[in-house]
Amino acid sequence: MCPPGAGKGTQAKQLTDRFHLRHLSSGDILRAEKAAGTDLGKTLGQYMDAGKLVPDDVVVKVMASALSANNAAGLLLDGFPRTVEQAKALDDQLAAAGKALDVVVVMDADPALIVRRISGRRSCPKCGRVYHTETLKPRKDGVCDDCGTTLVLREDDREEVVRQRLETYRRQTEPVIAYYRGRAGLKVIDVDGAGTPKAVLKSLAAKLAELGLGS
Ligand code: AMP
Repeated sequence: MCPPGAGKGTQAKQLTDRFHLRHLSSGDILRAEKAAGTDLGKTLGQYMDAGKLVPDDVVVKVMASALSANNAAGLLLDGFPRTVEQAKALDDQLAAAGKALDVVVVMDADPALIVRRISGRRSCPKCGRVYHTETLKPRKDGVCDDCGTTLVLREDDREEVVRQRLETYRRQTEPVIAYYRGRAGLKVIDVDGAGTPKAVLKSLAAKLAELGLGS
């Protein structure tokens, strides 16, 4: 659980490598659908570009099929669930498969810092890698190191959309933290997303190690 721009995507990719997990990002999956230009993709795009959440029934369906297609031992869910309804649907699907969540990571950061961070963010529309104009520059200006594609400012990373996304987070996603906190057998880790990506990863890995997870 994490407001936009607190570093969720960056940390998720690092953790995936470090702990040999499979990364399932609802944002990436929805963006791929949008980029494919299907009817569903066009509808999704209207919500995403406005900084709003895609309706629960659509996201739950898309993620349910991604989850069943990726039933590897270790999964890292990034950006899902984002509402209590989605969390309940995820519980149901996991229970039906005889599985359960092990750890929930809650990462927070100051809204002013978030707006600053996002305004400099540039993404690769092809492989999804994320850069920053000041803190995480590609080797060649404006071009993805991995696949050579021209980087873009995502529509939903524009400042006014970021403010809308922060509001959506407070209203719809924060209640999911309360839904999970205190649940028997589920560990909830709190991390401050204000530091550099490296410092945040260090603190996150230390907290996971305290729980006996990871290397
Ligand atoms: P992200 O890359 O995770 O920040 O997601 C980008 C956008 O995709 C969000 O602002 C939402 O419009 C949409 N989205 C991603 N995940 C979800 C979700 N679990 N529920 C609803 N909308 C989502």
